[in-house]
Amino acid sequence: MEKKSYVKVKCHECGNEQNVFGRASTEVKCTKCNAVLALPTGGKAHIKAEIIELI
Ligand SMILES: [Zn+2]
Repeated sequence: MEKKSYVKVKCHECGNEQNVFGRASTEVKCTKCNAVLALPTGGKAHIKAEIIELI
């Protein structure tokens, strides 16, 4: 099975949906409200938003 490298997430603050790279090396913020969606951990990103699907 192919590994998925992106996740589609839904922002807890505003409901905006966007794609986040699963191994993000920098903080990922919501494009609409600027809430933090993912934090870098040195490996797999820590996703703070609701994960809808792996893409
Ligand atoms: Zn948001």
